[in-house]
Amino acid sequence: MSRRVQLSASRIKTAQQCSWTYWCKYILKLPDTTNEGASKGWICHLVFETLGQSGKKREFNKILKERSVWGVPSIKKLIMSHAKRLAVDDDENLEDMDKMIVNGLGYNFHGDAKHKPNKKFIEKEFNIDVDERGVKYSIRGFIDQLFLYKDGTATIRDFKSSKQTFKGKDLTDNLQDIMYSLAVRHLFPGNKSNSEFVFLKFDLSTDLLGHTGNGVIKMPTVTSEELDGFEHELSAIQTYLENYSYKNATCSYAAKKDYPKDGSFGGPLACGREGYKKRKGEFLLDANGKKIKNFICAFRKPMKYSALLDKDDNVIKTSFYKDRGTLTADKSKGEKIKTMEYDGCPHFHNKGIIDDFLS
Ligand code: SF4
Repeated sequence: MSRRVQLSASRIKTAQQCSWTYWCKYILKLPDTTNEGASKGWICHLVFETLGQSGKKREFNKILKERSVWGVPSIKKLIMSHAKRLAVDDDENLEDMDKMIVNGLGYNFHGDAKHKPNKKFIEKEFNIDVDERGVKYSIRGFIDQLFLYKDGTATIRDFKSSKQTFKGKDLTDNLQDIMYSLAVRHLFPGNKSNSEFVFLKFDLSTDLLGHTGNGVIKMPTVTSEELDGFEHELSAIQTYLENYSYKNATCSYAAKKDYPKDGSFGGPLACGREGYKKRKGEFLLDANGKKIKNFICAFRKPMKYSALLDKDDNVIKTSFYKDRGTLTADKSKGEKIKTMEYDGCPHFHNKGIIDDFLS
C-alpha cells in the first residue's frame, strides 16, 4: 500500500538508523517518551522564538546584561510552565537551560553584527512539493533562524542542545544542511546559503581574529550540482518510504549494525540497555569508552497503549495506556479508541507485531 510521505531530515535519519524504529514511529505511530535533553532543547527553542519577535528588544537586552533569564518575568513564566509540564523543573535542569539560552542569545542572535541582514526569519517553515525534471519529492521542516543579506548570501542557523557536537558523517555530509540548503534554493532562488550549527552547551564566543569557539560549526556552501544530485536521492527515498512494508521494517535493525567507529551515535548504541535503570552503577559504553547514561530505545520493550483510529482503522494518534484519557474519538466520523499491545522490538523479543499491521 502506498502512503503519502513528507520527508524531513529527522525522518530520513530515523529510517537510516533503524528500520524498526521507523516502523514504530511513522507507521504504527507508537507513543514515545521524550528525554530530558530533548525537552530542554525544545524550551530553549521556544524562548529563542519568543525573543526573536519584534518588540522583545528590552527583554533580550536585560537577559544579556544580567547573563540570566530569571530577571525577566515573562520569560521565567514561559520556561517554568513548560519545564514543570515536561518534568525538567529541578535546579540542575533550570540552570542548564539558563546557560544555554544566554549562550545562544549572545551569538549574533539578530544576524551578523557587521552586515545587518535585510531580512530575517524565525522558525521559517518550508513545505515543498516537487514533480518536474525527473524528480519527485515532498520535503518539510522548520529553519530555526534564516538571515538574508543584501549581497545575495543567506545564513541558515540551527540550534543544538546536545552534549556532543557533530562527528563523522554529520560533519562531512550533513543531511539537515543539504535539506535546508535545498529549501532555501526553493524559497529564495539566487541566494547563496551557508548553514551554521550552534551548539548551546559549547563555546560560542568570537575572538579578536573573528574565530568562533568550538560550539559553532559552519558548513561550506552546498553547490548547485550537489543539490541537483540530492534531489534524485530524495526521489528514491520518497518512493521507498511511500511503499514501506513490514518486510522493510525488519530488514535493517540498528542492533545488527556495526558500532560506529567515528564516535557518533548509532548502530547498537541506539538500542540502549533493557532494565538499565534498575541496575544502578552499570553503564553502557560508547565507542570511546564513555558512559551512556539512562538510555533505552523507546521501542525496545513491549507495551500496552491506546490508539485513536479512523473509520478505516488507520491510526490517527496514540498514547500510553495510562494517558488514554487524552484521546478523544469523534464518533460522528466513525473514529474509535482501541487498546493495543506492542510485543517489543522483534530483534530482542523475537515476535512480530500484532496481526492488524501485518497486512
Ligand atoms: S531496540 Fe534497537 S533494533 Fe530495536 S527498534 Fe530500538 S534501535 Fe531498533
